[in-house]
Formats: sequence, structure tokens, C-alpha cells
Amino acid sequence: MPTDPLPTTARRAGGCLQPVLLRGRVDHIDGATGELLHRYTTVHEPGGVLPIACKTRRASRCPPCADVYQADTYQLIRAGLSRGKGVPETVAAHPCVFASLTAPSFGPVHVQRDKDGRALRCRPRRRGQVCPHGNRLSCPDRHAKDDSRLGEPLCLDCYDYTGAVLFNACAPELWRRFTITLRRALARQAGLSGKALAAQLRVSYAKVAEYQRRGVVHFHAIVRIDGPAGPTTAPPAWATIDLLTAAIDEAASAVHLETPAAPGLPARTLTWGREHDIQPIATTGDLTDAKVAAYVAKYATKAAECTGTLDRRITPADQLDALPVRDHARRHIAECIRLSKSPGLEDLRLASWAHMLGFSGHFSTKSRTYSTTLGALRADRAAHQRELAIAAGLLPALAGETTVVHADWHFTGRAQPLSALPPLTGGAA
Ligand SMILES: [Zn+2]
Ligand SMILES: [Zn+2]
Ligand SMILES: [Zn+2]
Repeated sequence: MPTDPLPTTARRAGGCLQPVLLRGRVDHIDGATGELLHRYTTVHEPGGVLPIACKTRRASRCPPCADVYQADTYQLIRAGLSRGKGVPETVAAHPCVFASLTAPSFGPVHVQRDKDGRALRCRPRRRGQVCPHGNRLSCPDRHAKDDSRLGEPLCLDCYDYTGAVLFNACAPELWRRFTITLRRALARQAGLSGKALAAQLRVSYAKVAEYQRRGVVHFHAIVRIDGPAGPTTAPPAWATIDLLTAAIDEAASAVHLETPAAPGLPARTLTWGREHDIQPIATTGDLTDAKVAAYVAKYATKAAECTGTLDRRITPADQLDALPVRDHARRHIAECIRLSKSPGLEDLRLASWAHMLGFSGHFSTKSRTYSTTLGALRADRAAHQRELAIAAGLLPALAGETTVVHADWHFTGRAQPLSALPPLTGGAA
């Protein structure tokens, strides 16, 4: 059921390629007299059905709906960096950085690197070392950005799929622990107790998950310090960008997580990778609010496509060998299914998330006080479209609080996708 009973808000389904089809009607009744003020029915729509946009965030499923999601995410992220949507202009002066927390290495993979615009060799080695499976541990190639080998291990049999899958599955918990540790690190650096810190400042963030081509997720996060009541209040003068940067570095290095031991599977300690990229965000210079907002919004519409996996869940009926996926992705999927049977790992629901190589988290999340919400942006848009519909005479200009709206909807199916899936796009190596 749509939450908005007025279907004209989505009359054309926004160009959606796979709209949900509804049949039904909406009556506006005067509550005092019982008089029918207005009736909308899908009988007069083409085919007798009303198409409603699928509203997916995923560009691989419906590019027009993903475009809307991307635009909303851009607005939301940018508001938290400079102003707008209820966030005051003064927020731009709050200490704010863009931090990337990556995964550790699970084995050497083909990489694309360049220095001063010149492509460098992938993995140069002077001596011809080989792994126990007889594969070379070096690669003299200078890979192009679209080389299909990027992200592939030099040896599939040496690669630590157990570690990679467990990292993906535990990344959301690792992030949660990071946010707690960050507050503690800030308190320690300021010489305050946790309670005293909360009285002086609040940390807010917006983060997005991105798959590297090697098949592990990493997080990009905007981390901002506000005053105690959020973006409308000024942070204390001692809370500088340098202090925030040092605290993020300290917290990212300290955070760890133990996975449970199971028969044939020793406990593991999961951590972030050693390199944490932390850069200040400003309204001018290299890393502007607009650039960061565009970057986050772009990744908010992607899933694991760049790793060469499937865009749907794996079912018990699937033949693993027959899936149209890269071998590297197939190994991740097989490892998810194998580990899903390990006692103690049930909570990770690895079989359900095998197509995501173990990651079950949200792709974009934010703390409550970062800025506005996607829901608020959608409600604004619906209200605007309702005004247009009233102006066009398609809806009654409802006068009173006594008007009763009675909606009766039936789901009749889903339109067939109008076009084939777009080509897979690459991500970072
Ligand atoms: Zn759609
Ligand atoms: Zn290579
Ligand atoms: Zn090997």
C-alpha cells in the first residue's frame, strides 16, 4: 500500500523501468455531510492500472529511480556540509573530515597504480617467487583501468576467502565499534570523561559502503563535530580538525573484533586495514562539499556489481558452478555457503548474503543529527506534486480537517523491465 493515498503523485512513475502496478480508487468524503467530494479511480488509466515507481536505490536495477535516490542523497549530504534543509550555514565552520576505512589484505591481487600520470607495474619483483601452487607472486603488467584482471588474486588457492568473507560480514559491527571508540578517543585527547565530552560536543557522520574490486567492502565517512545540541550549536574551540583527525586515526587503529571459533575454524581478530585516509572537507580547495556529496551519492546507488557477483540472492536451487559470475566472486560465494553451516556464525546469515560476498549492511547510513532525512525530502516532493495536481484540477483543493480520505488499493503485479541491465561498471581496485 502506498503511504500517500493520492496516486497522482506518481502518475507517470517517474520513468521507472519496473513499476509496481496498482488497481483501486481514492475517495475524498466530507466527514460532516457524507458527501463525496472527489473520486479518483484507476479505471481511467491506461490498462486500468496505475504504475508506481519502484524507488530502488540500485542503478543496476532501475537507473531512473536510482537517479532520484542519488539526487536526494546528494542534497542530504551537501546540506550537512554547507547548509540547507534545516541545517544552518554555520555548520560549514564545524570541524569536518572525509575518512576512508579500508579492509586489510587477504592476499595479493592485480592492481592499477599510477604516479604522476604514468601507469606503474602491478607487482614488480626482482626474483621469480612462486606460491605453493606454482603461481608467480609477481605481475610485471601495467594494467589499464578497465582490465578484467584488476582485483583478481595472483593465486585463487592462496587467497584468504575465509578472512575476506568474515570481514565483509563483520564490517558493520566493526564500524559501530569504531564510532564508540572515536568518542572515547576524543574524550581522552581532550582530557575529559565521556559524560563531560557529551556535554560539550556531538559527533555526527554520514557513511557509504563501497566494494573494492577485490571483493571487500570499505567505508567512506563524513565525520563532523557539532555543539552538544547538534548542527545548530557551535563545537568547543578546542575541537579542531587536527584533533578530530588524530582521534579517528587512533580509533581506527585500535578497533578490533573477535570472530567465534568453530570446528576447523580458529577464532580470528578482524581489524581495519593499516591505511586510513583522512582529509578535511571545506567549501573551497581540493576536497569540497560538492565533490564529497557527489561521491557519496554515486556510491549510494551501487552494490557489489564491480566484483562480478550476482545482483540477486543465491538459492539452494542454484548450481554454484553454473552461476554467471567471476571465479573470484564464485569462491567468495562458496565460502559464504560453507561458513554459514559453522556453529557460532549463524547470526551472520552468510548464506542469505552470499551474493553480497557476506556483507549484509546498509550502503548508506547517517547519524540522526547529520542533516535531513531521505523521508523528509520525499515528503517535500510529494507535497509539491500534490499542489501541482490540485492546480491542474486533478485533485480537490481540500478545505477542512473534516475531509475523510478512503483509499482502496490492490497490487496487481509488476511491469516487465523495459530494458536490459546496463553494463557493469568498475570500482576502485
Ligand atoms: Zn524504478
Ligand atoms: Zn597484475
Ligand atoms: Zn597459491
